[in-house]
Amino acid sequence: MAEDSSRAERSVHTRRRILRGGATVLGTATVAGEVTAAGEEAGSTLDSTLSTGDPEVRAIYAMPKWYWDGERVETNRARMRQFLNRVEETGLNVIYAWIESDGVASLLGEPAYAESDEYDFWNPDRGWDPLGELITGAARRGIEVHLWYSFVRYKRSALPIPEFNPNLEVLPTGGRDWGALSKSQYEDGHEDSTTVDAGALCVNEPEARAWALEVLDRVFERYPGLAGLHIEEPGYLDAEQCVCPRCRGLYADFYDDDPENYLDHIYDTSDPYFQDEMAIPVKSAGTDAFAESLYEWWVSRDAAGALSYNGSWLPEFDIPRGRNWPTWSAEGWLPYYAPQIYTSDLDVYRGRLERTMETLSDSVVAPVTGIVWGSDRTGSNDAATVADEIELVRSMDGYADVTAGGTGLFSGSALTPDQTVVLRTGPYSESAPPHWSSGENEQTRGDLTMADLRAQDPFSFTPYWQRELTLAGSGRSQ
Ligand SMILES: [Zn+2]
Repeated sequence: MAEDSSRAERSVHTRRRILRGGATVLGTATVAGEVTAAGEEAGSTLDSTLSTGDPEVRAIYAMPKWYWDGERVETNRARMRQFLNRVEETGLNVIYAWIESDGVASLLGEPAYAESDEYDFWNPDRGWDPLGELITGAARRGIEVHLWYSFVRYKRSALPIPEFNPNLEVLPTGGRDWGALSKSQYEDGHEDSTTVDAGALCVNEPEARAWALEVLDRVFERYPGLAGLHIEEPGYLDAEQCVCPRCRGLYADFYDDDPENYLDHIYDTSDPYFQDEMAIPVKSAGTDAFAESLYEWWVSRDAAGALSYNGSWLPEFDIPRGRNWPTWSAEGWLPYYAPQIYTSDLDVYRGRLERTMETLSDSVVAPVTGIVWGSDRTGSNDAATVADEIELVRSMDGYADVTAGGTGLFSGSALTPDQTVVLRTGPYSESAPPHWSSGENEQTRGDLTMADLRAQDPFSFTPYWQRELTLAGSGRSQ
């Protein structure tokens, strides 16, 4: 009941805002052809768009470098602004901004990366500061930006991977022996990761974990407006990593056994791990330590916002990859979890979400819904299905005594005018803040017609985007 009256008060407050000018107060129309002047589209303005709905996560996954690493700053900036307007128009309140450690190196001024054609996009001293502008532009539109970062995976880079680079000037130095070694690579004669093209860090290297915490700390110090950290799949791509000398030594310490015998406890599929109680503890020791220390760091910052992770909806798939979600949830290290549930079948979606919620008793679950997904964009959902899945997540709130905190959409470049119009007139017809936020949200929406939205061109996939895809498919260069 109390909630109803406070909501009514908020509603009165937002109406006053409309009388003061709504869209023009927030100043959206600045780039030619980007937005029609506020008021021109009065007939299309949705009466309910500016009232405040129940708090929930309404996130979009975005890759700034892939979208806006074009030749001309003005064009990039205009496209970013169009994207932000579209996100606001849709009623979303969080952007997860993807960055890999080579991008972080550029962001933090590590010379080789900051001056590189491949990574200077992130260098805030190069002419524009895409992360800074994304944060401030989003904040003006009632949207938070969270850094979306991978601790272990996605170690591919046109330059030496920063964690494997012993010649850094600004960041802590690492080494190629921080890389993970797979069982197959070991059986092919590689004793450690210095002779392989390692695609992941070994989670059991304490200095690699410290490296990640150090660079994250520096990024959050530089950008205090970042409202959260979203960790991408913090483990291995496949189940047969890691068997490097560190991991074999850890096994020997744990079980007082010959280190070489660790090879007998590594499998290339998930199932055998659950028959073998000597397999998982070595594998998850490092990721457990990371999750704990990351949480302690996050809390020690004493800042608002949210710490979240994403991964599989199926714990049995993720645990042999080092992602020990049930334990992290029970320990309190996993405040928010985003299981990737990519399907067009609502019953399948519900079953997968139930499976996750039954497993994570002490986390808020906010699943990732696919608009377009798969390495070759193999799967997609039309706007009506996305809207149905958002409503389905809402209906699951409280299942297994777990909070369903909202939905993330994958990903930004799939946010078409169609999706925007269906979401803003459906599940997101009222603006809302994410539920860790104590404030209200008064986004300016209803100004852009379908024609306006179709006239926008918010993404420029540069030649680099093509190379990025190639790198993703073919391993890393060193
Ligand atoms: Zn290892």
